[in-house]
This record gives sequence, C-alpha cells and structure tokens, in this order.
Amino acid sequence: MSRMNRRNFVTAMTSGLFGLGVSKHLGADSPRLASGLQAAAAPKVKTYKDLGKTGLKVPDVSFGAISLFEPNVLRYAYECGVTYFDTAESYLRMKGETYVGQGLKEVRDKVIITTKHGQNFRQKIEKDAFIQRVEASLKRLQTDHIDVAMIHNVDDLSLALNNQELMSAYAQLKKDGKVRFTGFSTHNAKQTLKQAIDADFAQVVLVMYNHMEGKEIEPLVKAVRQKGIGTVAMKIFAGGMQGNLKSMVNQQTSYSQAAIRWVLSNPDFDTCIPTMSSYSHVEEYVAASGLPLDRAALQTLALYREEVGDVYCRVSCRKCLSACPDNVAINDVLRYGLYYEHYGMERQAVDYYAELESERKPLNCAGCAAPCQSACPYGLQVKSKLLRTHDILSA
Ligand code: SF4
Ligand code: SF4
Repeated sequence: MSRMNRRNFVTAMTSGLFGLGVSKHLGADSPRLASGLQAAAAPKVKTYKDLGKTGLKVPDVSFGAISLFEPNVLRYAYECGVTYFDTAESYLRMKGETYVGQGLKEVRDKVIITTKHGQNFRQKIEKDAFIQRVEASLKRLQTDHIDVAMIHNVDDLSLALNNQELMSAYAQLKKDGKVRFTGFSTHNAKQTLKQAIDADFAQVVLVMYNHMEGKEIEPLVKAVRQKGIGTVAMKIFAGGMQGNLKSMVNQQTSYSQAAIRWVLSNPDFDTCIPTMSSYSHVEEYVAASGLPLDRAALQTLALYREEVGDVYCRVSCRKCLSACPDNVAINDVLRYGLYYEHYGMERQAVDYYAELESERKPLNCAGCAAPCQSACPYGLQVKSKLLRTHDILSA
C-alpha cells in the first residue's frame, strides 16, 4: 500500500482485490503511473495515542463520518492508517451508520467505532426501548459491539446522569458486551466537562475545539484527561468557510491542515475527527498527522480569523443567549446554518432545524431591537444572520 492512491484504490475495491489480500501490490496499476506521472504515495498516519484510560490506541487524525456517501472512503482511510471512526444514529437520516458498517465490515476487528444516540430529556426514556435503539445501530454497523457509545449533543450532563432508565440501559449494554465504553458529545463543554469529572459515566468525551474557540476550555480538557477520560476534538475547522476566501489560496499550508495541526498541538487531546467525505479529504487530512504547528500554519490560521472573525458564530461562547428576551437558541440556529452552508449537510441541517421547538426559533426577530448583537463580543450581525438562516432552513 506504500504507493497507493485513491484512483487505484477504487480500482482495487471494485475488483475485489482487498478481499484477496493483495492490496500491497496495487501501486503498479496506478493510472497516474500509466499516464507517465509520478504516483504520489498515499499519506499515512504517523502518530497514535492512548484514548484516555480505555486501553484503545487511536490515530491523531481520525474520521468524522457525518456527511459520507461513499463507504469505500472509509476503507481508504483505514488503509492510510486511520482506525477511529465516529458516526451517529441520526447522521444522513439514519443512513450514516449503514455506510460505516458497509465500509468497515471487512476490517471491523481492527478499527474503533463510536456512535451517538440523541436524547430529548423532556420526553420519557425507557430502558428497553433505548437498548433496542442501540441494537438497531449494531445491525446497521454490521457489528456485535460498539467501542464507544455516546449520548449525542449533551447540554447538561446531570439530566442524563439522573435518568435511571438511561443509565441502567447503558450499564446493561456494557454488561452484555454490546458497548465497551460510554461518553457524550457536547457543544457546552464549559459545563459538561466539569460534570464529567464529578461522575463516572464518561470514559470518552467529544468536544468542540478549534483555533477560534478553544482556549477557554483548555484547563477543563486537561482536568478531564488527567482523570483518564479520552478526549476527542470536533468542529476543528471553525466553520470550514475557507472555500470562499481569497486569502486561503496559495498558502504554504492548506487551511484544513493548519487547523488540524493547531488542534494536535494540544497534548491534552487524544485525537480529532475532521469530516472526511471524499478521498481527497482523507489524503489532505491524514497528511497533517504528526506535523508540528509551524509559522506557516499559524499565518494561514491568522488570515482565516481575519476574514471570518465577525461572521463565524463561536457556538460554545453563548454570551448572547441571556440577552434575548425571546429565549431564541441563537447558537444552535447559527450552527445549523453552518451545517447547511459549509459542511455539505443540507438535509441534516433542515432536519435539525425542524426538530427545534418553535418557541426557540427566531420568529420574532424582525421586530426586535436585537440586544443579542450588542452582547456578541465578536460583532456578528446576529439578527440578520438568524433571519437569513431561518429562511434557508425552513424553505
Ligand atoms: S433579534 Fe431575535 S435573537 Fe436577537 S434578541 Fe431579538 S429576538 Fe432575540
Ligand atoms: S452570536 Fe456571538 S455571542 Fe452569540 S454564541 Fe455566537 S459568537 Fe457567541
């Protein structure tokens, strides 16, 4: 596999060569070689770390499977050394886990799979029904166990910890060998990481962390890591708006690679999960594995901040929320807008927005004096962004 690239990888997959165990010979078939071009070696993960005290080893660059439509991309990532894959029950309208199962079934015993299940704590949760949901995930993932089962998007961990039915379901799933480790994902790390330290539920946490909104939670991440909890970073591209920015062209380091290197420069994170929805994503992101944060990368990030500083909503900052008399879920609405416009997750964004209670939508913003804007330390035009996002997501 040393001279593998995505084109001969696809040939290999479609001709069944991996099933015959001959992947290491495929470089000679490279279409790039056939055309007289130098075949680029496939990038390889260079660094692996302990995932907290789980005993699992994870690559520094892992796989976020939030907007994946081609299962072979997962297998290509595995061949590049990626062994940690993150999905969720809700991704791609319940099809995300199916793609992960299809892409990894032949290497299941060599990879770590995390999936997440969302909870509405205002509704009754029943142990047996929850166990059935996890069992349905196992079926879609084509596996008999989930390595890390997470509660999806937790705002207040105490609601989960105090729910006997849910805790009892996870305990049963562990006892039955269907789940190895438990944890949660969160956009509210300032609160939930403290709660995680005080309880014994989470063995792995998945938190937002990037060069535009990471500093505040660093002491908490350190404390969590010291407790032996595995730490995984998500949303590492800070909105991923580089595609529209002129300043990102001709930089020595691609913006995405610079953003990955920034996250990896924090030793308190075990891994990160950039979304890989194409072969080129795999190649670009894996190539950043093990690389230090250098001056060129810092310059690239500084340019990005200069361009999007007053348009990117730092979802975890939440400073505008208490200023809104209408209790609008400002950061969540703007996050769904990012999913729609920059993450390639249009349908998912529309679904998330449809699920938001109507009293938390920006339905009365038009006639409001917008105190949320003066509360925003970054100068975002919050009101117009909310109105625009509402139009896009409710169309
Ligand atoms: S403009 Fe909308 S979000 Fe902002 S304070 Fe008014 S009602 Fe709340
Ligand atoms: S709109 Fe501004 S204050 Fe509100 S969460 Fe986003 S960045 Fe923070």
